[in-house]
Amino acid sequence: MKIHEYQGKEILRQFGVTVPRGIPCMSVDEVEAAAKELGGPVWVVKAQIHAGGRGKGGGVKVAKSIEQVKEYANQIMGMQLVTHQTGPEGQKVRRLLIEEGADIKKELYVSLVTDRVSQKVVLMASSEGGMDIEEVAHSNPEKIHNVIIDPVDGLTDAQADDVAAKIGVPAASIPAARKNLQGLYKAYWETDASLAEINPLILTGDGKVIALDAKFNFDSNALFRHPEIVAYRDLDEEDPAEVEASKFDLAYISLDGNIGCLVNGAGLAMATMDTIKLFGGEPANFLDVGGGATTEKVTEAFKIMLKNPELKAILVNIFGGIMRCDVIAEGVIAASKAVSLKVPLVVRMKGTNEDLGKKLLADSGLPIISADSMEEAAQKVVAAAK
Ligand code: ADP
Ligand code: MG
Repeated sequence: MKIHEYQGKEILRQFGVTVPRGIPCMSVDEVEAAAKELGGPVWVVKAQIHAGGRGKGGGVKVAKSIEQVKEYANQIMGMQLVTHQTGPEGQKVRRLLIEEGADIKKELYVSLVTDRVSQKVVLMASSEGGMDIEEVAHSNPEKIHNVIIDPVDGLTDAQADDVAAKIGVPAASIPAARKNLQGLYKAYWETDASLAEINPLILTGDGKVIALDAKFNFDSNALFRHPEIVAYRDLDEEDPAEVEASKFDLAYISLDGNIGCLVNGAGLAMATMDTIKLFGGEPANFLDVGGGATTEKVTEAFKIMLKNPELKAILVNIFGGIMRCDVIAEGVIAASKAVSLKVPLVVRMKGTNEDLGKKLLADSGLPIISADSMEEAAQKVVAAAK
């Protein structure tokens, strides 16, 4: 789960990381009062969307008067902000952060991720912070320092001081950098984050160290123990089909292709998408209906897939283990009727009560294309989508 920058900064503040004073605004009407409360002389108007690269896309603007704050707020609020992380369609701006302007002397980069190789949290840090960090990672990877953190010790003073010096923090500011780095680590650890990034972490003219940006991702499997993080969820930022699917406990991810996939089991769902691609097709979604798919669930899954205007055909691929094929067949028949299915439907099922399931499909009178193997199913659905 992702959150907005201003929410990330609230979390950082609680863990002792220095962040600028700022006020989130849900409409442009709130902007003037916020700017007055902050007092200036410099403000920054920042689009709040769940994607980075806002500065380059025109979503972060420095204002020198309250009039200018209002002008920029009017420009940015409601705009379709396109960044390298939003895709070409962009993301609509519905929230702003009005923040005090900082005196930037140097922009640094720090982030934390869970590293699968060392099975530990890794701190990544660079002297080359700001809006071009992707370029640095590509062309000057030696400028990015990695620190592996022991879960028992946490980020030690020695580790924090050492990496701060490596990224160019002057001696006088090292204690401030240490406090910020250890606060960031504690925030990451205690909220079950899977990514925490401050880019830029800045050095100011008077030697302060401040987090000017904040990006967090959280492990969805740990959200049950963080109601305070769940409260930050902003459904406007999420894919409507995925939000709808989550209501029915369906694991659904929207993709760019035109072949809908309905599969039980995440591994089989991945293999199904691979097989479709192998035969020249493009999946419209990942969908795992889980082990206990009821007729209701299958119907909802069909409805969600059919809302996609790109959809040209559907492949149902079921392995009947705990789930019986006849139950799935009944679900598919009921769902096809409920949504008066117009696109070709290919069904492949294997396992428990397979023969009964196939008979039910054949007797249903619906124009269902049946397939026996994965290859056959993928080839048939790719052909049907053309
Ligand atoms: P993004 O990473 O999405 O582009 P940032 O929050 O990092 O957004 O802002 C982009 C750039 O804008 C920063 O690298 C920094 O140079 C500048 N900036 C952001 N916030 C402030 C601020 N409060 N004061 C001064 N400059 C800022
Ligand atoms: Mg940034």
